Amino acid sequence: MQFILKYVRPYLKRVAGGVTCKFLGTIMDLFLPWLLATVLDDIVPLKDEGKIYLYGGIMLLCSLLAWAGNVFANRVAASVARDATRQIRHDLFGKITRLHSREIDRFTIPSLISRMTTDTYYIYRMIGMMQRIGIRAPILLIGGIIVTMTRDSVLSSLLLALLPFMGAIVWFISRKGVPLYGQLQKHVDTLTRIVRENMNGIRIIKALSKTGDEKKRFGQMNETVARSETKAASVMAVNGPTMQFLLNMGLVLVIIVGARRVDAGHAGAGDIIAFLSYFTIILNAMLTITRILTMYSKALASARRIEEVIGGEEENRGEGEFAPVPGAPHIEFDQVSFSYNKKQMDVKDISFSLEKGQRLGILGPTGAGKSTLIKLLLRLYDTDEGAVRIHGVDVKDVPLEALRQMFGIVFQNDAIFRGDIGENVRLGRDVSLPEIERALSDAQAAFVEEKGGVGAQVVSRGQNFSGGQQQRMLIARALAGHPPILILDDAASALDFKTEAALRAALKQGYQDTTVITIAQRISAIMHCDQILVLEDGQPMGLGTHEQLMENCPLYREIASLQLGGEDHE
Ligand code: ADP
Repeated sequence: MQFILKYVRPYLKRVAGGVTCKFLGTIMDLFLPWLLATVLDDIVPLKDEGKIYLYGGIMLLCSLLAWAGNVFANRVAASVARDATRQIRHDLFGKITRLHSREIDRFTIPSLISRMTTDTYYIYRMIGMMQRIGIRAPILLIGGIIVTMTRDSVLSSLLLALLPFMGAIVWFISRKGVPLYGQLQKHVDTLTRIVRENMNGIRIIKALSKTGDEKKRFGQMNETVARSETKAASVMAVNGPTMQFLLNMGLVLVIIVGARRVDAGHAGAGDIIAFLSYFTIILNAMLTITRILTMYSKALASARRIEEVIGGEEENRGEGEFAPVPGAPHIEFDQVSFSYNKKQMDVKDISFSLEKGQRLGILGPTGAGKSTLIKLLLRLYDTDEGAVRIHGVDVKDVPLEALRQMFGIVFQNDAIFRGDIGENVRLGRDVSLPEIERALSDAQAAFVEEKGGVGAQVVSRGQNFSGGQQQRMLIARALAGHPPILILDDAASALDFKTEAALRAALKQGYQDTTVITIAQRISAIMHCDQILVLEDGQPMGLGTHEQLMENCPLYREIASLQLGGEDHE
């Protein structure tokens, strides 16, 4: 709750204005049955038409005030809810972008998305609701009881006698029903995750004829959600009708007892009518309070989920200046070991050093730890043992901003965004149009001309471009701005050999100063590098040039003979 209050606090003035209007509007609503009773019992018998009109006018005015107050208050409530939630989403998104990669692994991406969307929506609903019916229901309940007490204490005691029963229902709902809703929310989360995974992998699921399995997995979870929905709904189903029953009992009692009191001259007919209205108002208020409790507990669970992310560990951004050590190699891995789960090492004892402008190729099967080395270099994760250095400075001591600016990267499965080709290459950086065009031409993206130049539209995920075209756009993105370090993680896998060779030639010619790390499973993509690191199961199996490795690395020789047919393709 503290968490939500923190975000509502800046709007307290607006909240106070809205709540005051809600308060006045509600009081007017409460006042109306009382006025009606007065008109019926005290004014009508006087047979003074002028007075009847006067009171009628007052009732009309009260209705208008109630209408205006409630409309204004509801609008204010919506605007406060909107602004506070916007801020929550803003902070949450900012936090997610700064979150340590380890934390992203822990929360998982689908869960972060649902925290960003569903959970913030529940909070939005709660903030709005609290300012509207959260104020109105208690006033109607307490105010209703007070007004009825002042009019006729005997009839009011009927109401008071019913209150403990109603209280018991509210208690039952909040003890039994609300936790069931919490459970339901968890199951819906899992269902959402399954749907998301499914949608992301829909093509492969179809291709591998796995639709049956997936349907079963979805069906099971869907069943669980339906079951917990039924459970929660069957508890909640008691709520409305029981309240209605109590209301009807109350109304019957008011009429029976009231009729006798009117007969005996202790009460007027107007009192009975007013009491019937107040009974309805009070019981509806009780019903609303159970709804508020449900909403409140949902929003509280959501707030906790968001707070968990906001409190998550951030990347250590580092401060100060980056001071390169003269004479130190450009990139150096010094006996680096790292484990994701801190149980078994995912990469172990990796050492190499690259001078400025040198090319390193990393070769190894999937899961060998190739991308992990890049993540350590970018400091997405910190090494467990050993050090990664750039110009002699441990990357842990390089300010993150400065560090990340040194790189141009193509990751596996990188994202293409909706927009045009130029925007996709620029990616919000300060890169001029000629630089973009040059990067595209170096990346061998000749297709840009056919598509109508850098202004050509790209649909979401770049689906109006082929895999090879998308890959070249991504390479151009990495080349734009001429980074000191270029990383190509399986970047050329969708390119044909001729294009790949042309790309290599363009890099050789235009980027002599750029240190390039190429990750590949194809030997042809890395055999020309100054150094090649062969990895298997996170362990270094060999380091050297193609010739040296052919000489003394059996694994490399084996891969080469498989891929190149035992010949040396220079
Ligand atoms: P490669 O790039 O050679 O295919 P990776 O570096 O991606 O291999 O993965 C090396 C190992 O680390 C694999 O066993 C993989 O399962 C594991 N791994 C990769 N990323 C994560 C992660 N975010 N959390 C846990 N384990 C991971």
